[in-house]
Parts: sequence; structure tokens; C-alpha cells
Amino acid sequence: MEFAYIDWLRRQTPMNPRALVGPGDDAAVLDWPAPSSCLVTTDMLMDDVDFRLDEVGPHRVGRKAMAVNLSDIAAMAGRPVAAVVAVALPRTGNTSLAEELYRGMREMADAFDTPIVGGDTNGWNGPLVISATVLGEAVGRGPVLRRGAKPGDWLLVTGPLGGSIRGKHLDFTPRVREALRLHDLVELHAMIDISDGLAADVGHICAESGCGVVLRAEDIPLSNDSRDLEQALSDGEDFELAFAVSPADGQMLLNKQPVLGITLSAIGEFVADGIWLEQASERRPMQPKGWVHEL
Ligand SMILES: [Mg+2]
Repeated sequence: MEFAYIDWLRRQTPMNPRALVGPGDDAAVLDWPAPSSCLVTTDMLMDDVDFRLDEVGPHRVGRKAMAVNLSDIAAMAGRPVAAVVAVALPRTGNTSLAEELYRGMREMADAFDTPIVGGDTNGWNGPLVISATVLGEAVGRGPVLRRGAKPGDWLLVTGPLGGSIRGKHLDFTPRVREALRLHDLVELHAMIDISDGLAADVGHICAESGCGVVLRAEDIPLSNDSRDLEQALSDGEDFELAFAVSPADGQMLLNKQPVLGITLSAIGEFVADGIWLEQASERRPMQPKGWVHEL
């Protein structure tokens, strides 16, 4: 990293008790109380593939780069601890590009008390590429994996789905707090964040858990941006959580709606095998097709 940028970064980095050494040394030093496990996730976003810089601006790109990683920590029901970021900056950009990008990242990271403790920035004759890595810690009963759903389990989601391309894919809030609350309340058998699309991501849970699922079309909550069920099933980047719980826990969550700020919906049931869509009491097999990265 350039000297001036490191200095600037240091000045911008707030104190955090978990970050014993932040940006400026050869590596960051984190306080990591035993015996917690460390969750690690990383995601790379590229101009013209995952966003269009000239349309959305660096602030929203920075925000999203951090948010997608926080969403993956949420999907494990973990607590984010710290982040590092690597950026390839186009030489055509100016210093405000780097700063705005960083401010976007910081806004999102700060919202979840996650210090950005280090990173690397290079200039090149290519488009903007940003890769963020978030470290988190397992809490409570430990990380919630994709495997663990059982036939008979209910499938719930944390919010409405579809049409995220109209803005939500950039401006969503990762469900970190909601996941921690759910993890505290019930035994989550399996969980995923919806990045590829409901059908595809629930398909991932089924593949890892060795079971199938029936989705009930009428129960799937559609977002205001969603035109139809097809979008809710196949659009990506909703970044809501889909999870499996016992029927008793599912019923309790539906009745009590104990997670502040969201409405939980039960949208299906895990079965022995197959991926099915039930509509007007008719059940038909469904392709778990995912969202294709194109703008
Ligand atoms: Mg994920």
C-alpha cells in the first residue's frame, strides 16, 4: 500500500478492542479469545461484471463489497470481527475514487462493528476490482452449515424476494443481527444467504443435506420490486436468509415473529428428495436454476 494511503487509512480507522494492531504493520493482530472458531469468507467484485462503476459510483460499490461478505458470515450465524480489503484501482480514477470506495466499505463495516484492519491497493490499466475478506467468530451452538436440513423440517426466509437488480443488490443490509437472534432462539438445522436465487440456494442446502424440498408458491413473499413468482425464485442477490428448523420451532417463529424489523415466512418443507414447486395444490419438479452474473 502507498504510504500516504496507509496514513490516511490509519487516521480513518476507529479503535476496536478486537484489533490489537490495525493497518500500518506487516499484518494486523486480532484478539481472538479461545475456544471460539474463526469463520473466513471472501468475495471479489469486478467492474462491468458485478456492478457498473460509472452508474453506481464507488461509495455503493464499497458498501456492497463489505455487505456481501457480512452476509456470508450471517449465513453461518456468526459474528463479524474484522475485515481486510484488496483493491485494484484503474489508473484513470482519481484519489477520490479510492477514498469514496473506502468510505462505502467503512459505512457498512462500522454498522456491524467490524474494523477494516488492513489491505492492499494497486493501480493498473484495468477496471476496478475489489476483494474483501471478513473474519468472524462462531457463537452459541457453533456455525450453522448448509448441511443439516432433514425431511420434515420447515423452510423459512427472512424477507421478501425478487427484483433486487432494481437496487436492493447494492443497498441491502446483511442479516447479521437477525441471524444471531435466530441462532439464540432456536436450533437452526441449516442456513444460506440468498445470493444465487431462492431455488438455486435452497438447492444448495438440499445437495449438502442429502434431501429435497417442496416450495409453496403462494407462501413465498414477493418484494415490491418483484414482478412475479418466477423472479422471486430465480433472481439472485436478495441477501435474505433461508433456513431449516423443526416444525415446532418454525411454528413458534411464525406465531411470535420474535426477530425485530423483519417478518419471517414459512415457504416450504424439506422432503426425502427432489426439488418441487407446489402451486394450487399441484406439485411439479423445479429446476434449481441460479442467477447468472450479467448486467
Ligand atoms: Mg453465501
